[in-house]
Amino acid sequence: MELKGQVALVTGGSRGIGLAIARDLAEAGATVAVAARDEARAQAAAAELPGSGHRGYAVDVASSESVDTLIKSVDADLSGVDILVNNAGVTRDNLLMRLKDEDWDAVIDTNLRGAFNTIRAASRGMMKKRAGRIINITSVVGITGNKGQANYAASKAGMIGLTKSVARELGSRGILVNAIAPGYIDTDMTAELPAAAREALAGQITLGRLGDPADIAGVVRFLAGPAAGYITGQLLVVDGGMVI
Ligand code: NDP
Repeated sequence: MELKGQVALVTGGSRGIGLAIARDLAEAGATVAVAARDEARAQAAAAELPGSGHRGYAVDVASSESVDTLIKSVDADLSGVDILVNNAGVTRDNLLMRLKDEDWDAVIDTNLRGAFNTIRAASRGMMKKRAGRIINITSVVGITGNKGQANYAASKAGMIGLTKSVARELGSRGILVNAIAPGYIDTDMTAELPAAAREALAGQITLGRLGDPADIAGVVRFLAGPAAGYITGQLLVVDGGMVI
């Protein structure tokens, strides 16, 4: 119960990797605020977490007004955010020549601007407490690039720069900021891949399998906890050895 007494906000915590993160943080004793666009699903996810006091909230991370309202609600209901996990993310894949302006904007606004919105809003309270952990879920494609994902890879690479800059700004206030770059993880986001593509993908992964959301959640729990108290501004690649 290393996170007992702490409040964790997990964006996109209603399913996939975010839900696994919310579950792990709750198991570690944190009270978890689950936030997603679908409020009913966020509330249902919060209700199923181990322990008590968890809450579900509606938010569109791409909107700074929506995020500010969320942070005010979490402050009022749960007395502030100690651990922020920026996990909400979307893809709108297409080859460069077919990428529409709205595909670019939707992905950059949700993934990159979304992380900026939540960090700016949640770090005010953390600065007052002179403590906090911020963990940004980026992607290996932010390092390697990927055909058909110029918008997504750019948003994830941007999150890495955001992580490092904010870590430098907030370190003196006791706030630690890190990023995790998952490889291919078995969730709704990757479910559309045909079986043959999944097999081909697994063949490129040193450990020979796609990742499970729990593989990412355990690393978030580590970065949120006391064992990671001297780690900031870092990117941890959690991809089964896909990129070595
Ligand atoms: P899912 O599509 O399974 O879940 C996405 C979550 O984000 C949902 O809870 C969704 O809820 C929420 N969400 C989406 N848009 C918004 C928004 N604008 N505001 C608030 N919440 C939002 O994704 P995964 O679990 O697969 O991915 C989670 C994160 O991990 C993402 O950032 C993704 O880029 C990253 N990642 C995933 C990989 C993978 O292989 N799966 C690999 C590398 C990185 P709702 O729709 O109700 O808003």
